[in-house]
Amino acid sequence: MRDTVWFTEATRDPGIALAHELVHILMGSGEHVEEPGNLIRAETSPENTELTTDQCEDIVPLGNDNELFAPSAE
Ligand SMILES: [Zn+2]
Repeated sequence: MRDTVWFTEATRDPGIALAHELVHILMGSGEHVEEPGNLIRAETSPENTELTTDQCEDIVPLGNDNELFAPSAE
């Protein structure tokens, strides 16, 4: 179950919710931010789609370190 995302038919804005959850996985954190328009606000919506430069600079090394960007060897 680690590094997985689950949705139900009731999930609002599923494309945005998927992006939001993938960033949580890449960050290794379930924390949210208050910044207007940010993808990692607690509520997903079409208005909340942006990441800051700092967020991007944080998630890329974490994704690499956790081999989340590498193709599966299976
Ligand atoms: Zn969240």
